[in-house]
Amino acid sequence: MRHFEPTREFARSLDSADPMRHFKERFYVKEGLIYMDGNSLGLCSKDAEQYVLEALETWKNEGIGLWSAPCADGTAYFDYQDTLGAGLAKLIGADADEVTVSTNTTMNIHQAVATFYHPTPERNKIVMDDLNFPTDHYAVKSQIRLHGYDPEQCLKFVKSRDGKLINEDDVIAAFTDDVCLALLPSVLYRSAQLVDMEKIAKAARERGIVIGFDLCHSIGSVPHDFKKIDPDFAVWCNYKYMNGGPGTVAGLYINRRHFACEPGLSGWHGNRADTKFELRLEFEHELRASGWQTGTQPILSMAPIFGSLKLYGETDIQTVREKSLNLTAYLMYLIDEKLTKYGFSVGNPRDDAKRGGHVALEHDDAIRINEAIKHNGIVPDFRFPNVIRLAPIAFYTSYEDIYEMVERIIRIMETREYEQYENKIGSIA
Ligand SMILES: *Cc1c(COP(=O)(O)O)cnc(C)c1O
Repeated sequence: MRHFEPTREFARSLDSADPMRHFKERFYVKEGLIYMDGNSLGLCSKDAEQYVLEALETWKNEGIGLWSAPCADGTAYFDYQDTLGAGLAKLIGADADEVTVSTNTTMNIHQAVATFYHPTPERNKIVMDDLNFPTDHYAVKSQIRLHGYDPEQCLKFVKSRDGKLINEDDVIAAFTDDVCLALLPSVLYRSAQLVDMEKIAKAARERGIVIGFDLCHSIGSVPHDFKKIDPDFAVWCNYKYMNGGPGTVAGLYINRRHFACEPGLSGWHGNRADTKFELRLEFEHELRASGWQTGTQPILSMAPIFGSLKLYGETDIQTVREKSLNLTAYLMYLIDEKLTKYGFSVGNPRDDAKRGGHVALEHDDAIRINEAIKHNGIVPDFRFPNVIRLAPIAFYTSYEDIYEMVERIIRIMETREYEQYENKIGSIA
């Protein structure tokens, strides 16, 4: 059982005992600003900046020579996707060659579904849940259409019972004989529910269903054991908890048992390295995740991930998870102690085994309160209809930040400051 006390002194004592406290100075954290949106766009680290500048310098000095020039760990920039893939693989317990980085999450969903979706008249359904992020749905629907089928017929939704959580048994019950593929989130972006991937993947495997996970809201925050979960594929972005920067390249995991499968969307950078520059018209893919590469890699957008992985190398994902759970537990404690009397409630699962890295603070007046919070030096984000998402980040959020944030929210409620804002959602909430 965790023990917390509702005072600033106690927050400070948690900070001084925090083994990760020294990482905060490695990030650009604005003085006085409490950044709780690292699950939408993580902050820039000095390490990320350093490796972007280093790649830029190499380009300045070497021109085309950049491709064979070494990055900071001695491997060539030409192999940067493998170098970063190997670093990311450690966070999910996968083999180094099972992970690569490429394009964005949406395109990696296209890539995976194009690879693994082989519908027949008898077996053509894809299972998804109705709480997953819209882009996942859009990508899957267009793949169904491209295969000559009707998304209305082929997309099978698992409906949330309460609009917040997904019940794993409901997912498994949807795995009928006409289903050939399923794509589900690891952590739900609104309610922070951590889904039991192992249970779902096992049920899928037993029924011959290809199972993929979207790790956007867990990568870099929750460790995964992919040797145990053993999914067929996974995708994720690296700009949330991974702090890889706006629009940095996304992750793609392909289980090694599928290395011989033909990539659904092929391109010359997926070709075998030894024949790539023979520029033959026959495509022969690398028998590893990077065989699913398409075109030339955006080195300058990849370099921040190198910096981020360096930080993970100085600690480990278990330590990050432990602090993250403790931060969110502390925040929930303060909400219970100090904010429930203003009509707030906690919308995420409270069990450590069931929650990801953020807290879903709910209130009937969440839109206006979220606006007032933004005007008080806090960066939260709002998710329709009533959720203020608060993501304390293990690398740069202190316990005192959380304490101070709750104090500011109390002030907003006491003075009714939020009533001066419009009950309307902005364009990037
Ligand atoms: C953030 C997020 C995405 C983002 O997709 P991009 O193509 O990288 O912009 C996709 N899916 C989920 C579940 C997300 O949380």
